[in-house]
Amino acid sequence: MRVLRGLGVSEGIAIGKAVCIETRVVDVYRFPIPEAEIEREVERLREAVRRTEAEIRGTRRRVVRDLGEELAGIFDAHVLMLADSAFVERIVDRIRSERVNAEWVVHRTTEDLAERFSQLDEPHLRERATDLLDVGRYLLRMLQGISHHEISEIAGPVVIVADDLTPSDAVRLGRERVVAFAVESGGRTSHTTIIARSLNLPLVAGLEGATQLVTDADPVVVDGGEGVLVLHPTAQVLADYDDRRQDLRRREQEALATRELPAVTRDGVEVRLMANIDLPEEIDEARAFGADGVGLYRSEFLYIERSPALPTEEDHLAIYRRLAEAAAPHPAVIRTYDLGGRKLAREVMETHEDNPVLGLRGIRLTMARPQIFRTQLRGLYRAGLFGDVWVMLPLVSTVEEVRRFRGFAGRVMEELRSEGVPFRPDIKVGVMIEVPSAALTADLLAREVDFFSIGTNDLIQYALAVDRNNEHLAELYQPLHPALLRMIRFVTESASAAGIEISVCGEMAADVRYAPLLVGLGLRRLSMSPRMVPAIKTRLRELDCAELEVLARRAGDFATAPEVEAFVRSALAAGPVERPTSLRE
Ligand code: PEP
Ligand code: MG
Repeated sequence: MRVLRGLGVSEGIAIGKAVCIETRVVDVYRFPIPEAEIEREVERLREAVRRTEAEIRGTRRRVVRDLGEELAGIFDAHVLMLADSAFVERIVDRIRSERVNAEWVVHRTTEDLAERFSQLDEPHLRERATDLLDVGRYLLRMLQGISHHEISEIAGPVVIVADDLTPSDAVRLGRERVVAFAVESGGRTSHTTIIARSLNLPLVAGLEGATQLVTDADPVVVDGGEGVLVLHPTAQVLADYDDRRQDLRRREQEALATRELPAVTRDGVEVRLMANIDLPEEIDEARAFGADGVGLYRSEFLYIERSPALPTEEDHLAIYRRLAEAAAPHPAVIRTYDLGGRKLAREVMETHEDNPVLGLRGIRLTMARPQIFRTQLRGLYRAGLFGDVWVMLPLVSTVEEVRRFRGFAGRVMEELRSEGVPFRPDIKVGVMIEVPSAALTADLLAREVDFFSIGTNDLIQYALAVDRNNEHLAELYQPLHPALLRMIRFVTESASAAGIEISVCGEMAADVRYAPLLVGLGLRRLSMSPRMVPAIKTRLRELDCAELEVLARRAGDFATAPEVEAFVRSALAAGPVERPTSLRE
């Protein structure tokens, strides 16, 4: 038995067989193929080529319909390449001569060819390198779908052990027979972590070297609370974990019983607990766990799930309508696409960025891709007829962005009006506060919008210059840093001075250690993964809001995050709020 320690970021215990994935290069394994099976492998490749071509042609048709002929042109090069027998036969020859699986040969061949193209002088030939890599990627995805080397080969529950995992891979794998993730990279608020929580799957991040130590089909245990990956557990250890797993399930059932209780502090102050929704399956959970409305729908996951196809106006309308109807009588806050950064969107990015987290992300990207944004907004304004839909803009850093958005939305509505398509024009418009420039100008922004939602996940990252995905910086990613507390207070005060709504939808709101402090700082709306609602509600019902306000004020006296943390912990454990002796005057 061997125990690896990392960061426990998504709670739960899972027992299963490991499947290792190396994604940093590209998600490809190399398998030798026995002589007798070579022709079957070749046929598998040809089938993947046929299906990929059909899929790309289908995407092209949808793009023509929604976005026009011009953008659809990017798919032509891909179709031509797949129809080019020289390209396909080159791959077939290599499968036969090297006797390895199709995925491996597709990967190697497209990389080799792309490398050669990228060295040519003619710019339009150099661009073919990117097309080749795209085609290779489509083919690999297709091959994985019709592969005989896949997760289903391993009997029973699967634990993914990966060097890195994108949010979209987590969605795809999480819907197969995967029971947990163990990843070398990652952080507490990375989007992969958030998705694991959405899927209710344990995840341990920061497990350095795990993929070197684990072999496919090794029996493992993942403890997402403690941040532990156990390899080859003994029978006794397995039995202990099994007991704990039963215990967790029992507690989850008990938590459901809190659904009908009001979310009020002991002194009667109501705090509305709303749902963060990433995946459609969470809509029912929001109701089951007693969330009141949707405080954040991360619409980019609609795109990520459909990629490389783009969601249509009808897709947008259908999901926003469903959310609005489920949230009633409360609002459903739809955040426009927050693509870019790590939520890579190759089909819409079109550019390479050295520093994507500071790049074309969120509102910057959507305003730069008006056709795609227009489709989303048309669906959104139409969905307004079916409930209280609010629109929220991500990664706003200036007042001009809000003004430009209003101009753009005005034109979209004008278009709907002239076509006679019914929609709701007076949808509330708000912004995420997740960039320090937005936080520090909250008083100015508050004059331009109907509501704020503080995205602490990014606000911490951008205020402290600490990558939220970097496992080596986990200690520096400090929600209780005095800079954060000051910003949250200023934003909250600015919102209430302007009479606009304010909430927190970052992971701080879902943490029993931090939510009370947020209430003390003046927040009365918290949005979180539905499964966290019972724990936060139970905690707030034990506390006095008046005392939390004193606690929050005193927390402002400390110079470091660990000091604030120690103060808050001891104050909340000890009952009435006291200052630690070292700081008393
Ligand atoms: C945030 O930044 O806190 C937030 C809620 O948005 P996301 O986690 O999707 O970046
Ligand atoms: Mg964010």
